[in-house]
This record gives sequence, structure tokens and C-alpha cells, in this order.
Amino acid sequence: MKYKFNPPKRILMGPGPSDAHPKVLKAMATPLIGHLDPHFVMMMDEVKAMVQQTFLTKNKLTFVVSAPGSAGMETCLVNLLEPGDECIICVNGVFGGRMVQIAERIGARVHQIDVEWGKVTTTAQMKKALKQCPKPKLVALVHAETSTGALQPLKEISDLVHNANSLLMVDAVTSYCGVELKVDEWGIDAIYTGTQKNLSAPPGLSPVSFSKRAEKVLDKRKTPVQSWFLDLSLVKNYWQGAKRAYHHTAPVSSVYALHKALGLVLDEGLENRWKRHQEVHQYLKKGLEKLGFSYLVKPTHRLPNLNSVYLPKQVNNEAKLRRQLLDDYNIEVGGGLGAFAGKIWRIGIMGESCTKNHVNMLIGALEDLL
Ligand SMILES: *Cc1c(COP(=O)(O)O)cnc(C)c1O
Repeated sequence: MKYKFNPPKRILMGPGPSDAHPKVLKAMATPLIGHLDPHFVMMMDEVKAMVQQTFLTKNKLTFVVSAPGSAGMETCLVNLLEPGDECIICVNGVFGGRMVQIAERIGARVHQIDVEWGKVTTTAQMKKALKQCPKPKLVALVHAETSTGALQPLKEISDLVHNANSLLMVDAVTSYCGVELKVDEWGIDAIYTGTQKNLSAPPGLSPVSFSKRAEKVLDKRKTPVQSWFLDLSLVKNYWQGAKRAYHHTAPVSSVYALHKALGLVLDEGLENRWKRHQEVHQYLKKGLEKLGFSYLVKPTHRLPNLNSVYLPKQVNNEAKLRRQLLDDYNIEVGGGLGAFAGKIWRIGIMGESCTKNHVNMLIGALEDLL
């Protein structure tokens, strides 16, 4: 067969993946070692410690699922919920909706809080839901809803959830390593994220973490977890130091890349990284508004690293403009999802893609095209 595929060099400014650091890409080319090799085991221990540091948690049950963010979501839900369990899930975009689908497949009784897309769940809405369902086993929210660019405040809701003796589960795929996120301080009981957003590693892995409260719930399960691969009672032995037992073959090269990417985050410092995302966001915002773009989400709940914007009035075919950006300038931005398809763009400035140079390239290209 004569093959044609030859990947172009893109500038990634969509909802993920983001540009990877050359050191991270180079790590992927490291010669393979066995996944039970003592050196690999040492790397897994270091990865676990760095995930704990970046989540700002001391949770022992912290590890990396060998599959993308959606599998992290599924890991949390299939382990914490059993058929018949009640839960509250906040839906203000695509990813909350996905949680509902998974929870329903488990056979859980889902109480859904429907929030207008682009907005966040309020404490009043949570209080009302907890009146209708006073003893949910779990309450789940999306911290950074990538389909809309909304950033969910968590601290007050966390108190409400714990007063109801319930577990707080959070999707941090797009907030992790880009905006303030404090797992222990905010009382998050189950959290999952991905590698390809602000961490700027290749997609395909999902760091997760569970609190002591969540571990207690896991220990009390009455039925086996419906997924063999994601069953924590089996996976956790794979991530537990000397007792490590074979569960599946870890994606060795991806873990090399993750190890390097986490190291780069810690070298920069979490707070510096949060600050950088805010600063570049302000710079991007200025440029976009000058061109006639306007923000979907109000400033108080606006995600800095995922900018969802309405297009300038003169643009009547956003898909064509997006394609021109890709074909002629090698810049990828995201289109809208669901009700926002064809109406907004989602511009990511995540991790390595969060630089003023990236913004200059995008704004310059748009000035040409408009
Ligand atoms: C990207 C994303 C996911 C899914 O991650 P995948 O790696 O694509 O499976 C889940 N939640 C949010 C908020 C996301 O942005």
C-alpha cells in the first residue's frame, strides 16, 4: 500500500489536546522497559506522588487510569455507585450529561439539576435538589465545563454536600493544572482528570483520586463493580508499591510522557501556572474583543483557559473560517457543541498552548482573515 498520511505541524488552540512540550514528546521515544521492571515501578511511584502534589491532596488512593478522561469519569461512577443508589448530577453542558448517562447505565437513580448552558450550579439550586433528595450517595459536578467555558465554584457546594453526608465527585479534566484546584481543602471525595488539556501531555491517561470517605464507601459495596477493567479493588493493587501485581500492561510510553509533563508543572509551580493562564487569558480577551468577538460566560464564572466566544457579526460561516485558520495558518480552534454548534468558538489556551506568542499568532491570522 502506498500510504499518504504525514501529520501536519499544528498550533493547538482548541478544547484539547494542547501543544506538548518537546521534552514530553521526546520522553515518548525513550526505549521501552517492562511494566513490572523495578525502574518502571519506581516511575509509577513518582507519578503517583506528583499527581498527589498537583491535585493538592494526601489521598492514598491516587493513581492513573490507563485510558482517557472519560474512563476516569466512568471509574469514579462505577465504583462509587451501585444499582438503586441515589445521586445528584449537575448538568450545565456536555460532560455533566455524560455523567448522567453513565450513572443511569449503572442503574443508579439520578436526580438531575438542569442548569442553563454557560451558567454554573448555584448553592440555591443545590439546596433545592438536596430537599428533594436529602440523602444522595454522591453529588457530581463539572469544575470546568469545556463545552461552554464555565468555571463552577465548589467550596460552598462542598459544605452542603457533606452536611448531607454525601460524597462530592468532581470532573477536573479542564481545570487541573490550569486554574485553582484544591482537592483536600475543598473536600473533594472523588476526582478525575485528563492529560491532554492544561497538562499538555498526550491524550489517553486519566489521573484520579479518592478520599478516605470515598474509600469507606468502596469497602462497603454489596455488588461487584460492573466493569472488570475499572474495578478499583483490582486496579489499586497495581498502583501500590512493593505488592504490585499484574492487572494490565501499562501504556509505558504514555506514562513516560506523563511523568515528564508532571515534572514540568512542578518545576513551574502550580500557582505560577494558574497565574499564567489568567494573564494570557486577559491578553487574548483584549485581542478578541477588539476584533468583535464577545464572551458567552459572564466574567465571574469565566474559565481562563477555555474561551467560548460568539463570533463578530460579519462572520456568517464560522465553520469555513475555522477551516481557513486550520488550512492556511495551521491553527486549530474548537467549534460549539449542542445548542452552540455554529454559534460559538472554543479557544483553548492550555499548558504549552498558553503563551502570548500563541495569542499573537491567532489574533494575527484572524486580522488577515476578517
Ligand atoms: C475532555 C473532557 C473530558 C473527556 O476526556 P477524554 O480524554 O476526551 O475522554 C471529560 N470532561 C471534561 C470537562 C472534558 O473537557
